[in-house]
Amino acid sequence: MSNDTALVLFSGGQDSATCLAWALTRYRQVETIGFAYGQRHAVEMTVRAPVRAGVAALNPAWEQRLGADHVIDLSVLGEVAESSLTRDVEIAFAESGLPNSFVPGRNLAFLTFAAMLAYRRGARHIVGGMCETDFSGYPDCRDDSVKAMQLALNIGMDRQFVLHTPLMWRSKAETWRLAQSLGDEALVELIRTETHTCYLGERGALHEWGHGCGTCPACRLRAAGYAEFRAAA
Ligand code: ZN
Repeated sequence: MSNDTALVLFSGGQDSATCLAWALTRYRQVETIGFAYGQRHAVEMTVRAPVRAGVAALNPAWEQRLGADHVIDLSVLGEVAESSLTRDVEIAFAESGLPNSFVPGRNLAFLTFAAMLAYRRGARHIVGGMCETDFSGYPDCRDDSVKAMQLALNIGMDRQFVLHTPLMWRSKAETWRLAQSLGDEALVELIRTETHTCYLGERGALHEWGHGCGTCPACRLRAAGYAEFRAAA
């Protein structure tokens, strides 16, 4: 296993683009993995390649370090779980307090498949944008969930993977700040204009904080975080 190789869970959103830059500053070889799982809107998958290439192009060292991209078909998730991400229904919040975009165990599945690929690719480090301060409170994004997964994967695969979650305790404003510290304004601008976070899959107009519908929970969170980031600057 290479201690210099990292695999980044990369969706083409603000968080995973920041994680990609984070990994490119630390590891000599960085690969990415994405999951197609019946998202209602394919826009998330279509921005992956340009965002990936755009991040790498910001820095000659990053360009050299960025390796293969792997897209795994997990459309089976849509068969076993019903949610607003996989079906055409309105985003709403269930009585549990979780949005109906929640696919139970989705991130556990992502981490498992990432580790299976990392095993084959000889990558020791797995990087994900899981965040506990995220509004949605997905239980499998919690720090304890990721730590438990690291333990389970290491025992179950007889490896010593290290699961990194650089955004775990950051607010959205702090995630913008991290991007700025990693790649200056050029990275902030790339993330602002190229990444996709909107739940409704709307590219729409380019707002101050990026593209999106502006009203779904993901857009509101992103807009508020960007405003806070700029206000503090
Ligand atoms: Zn939106």
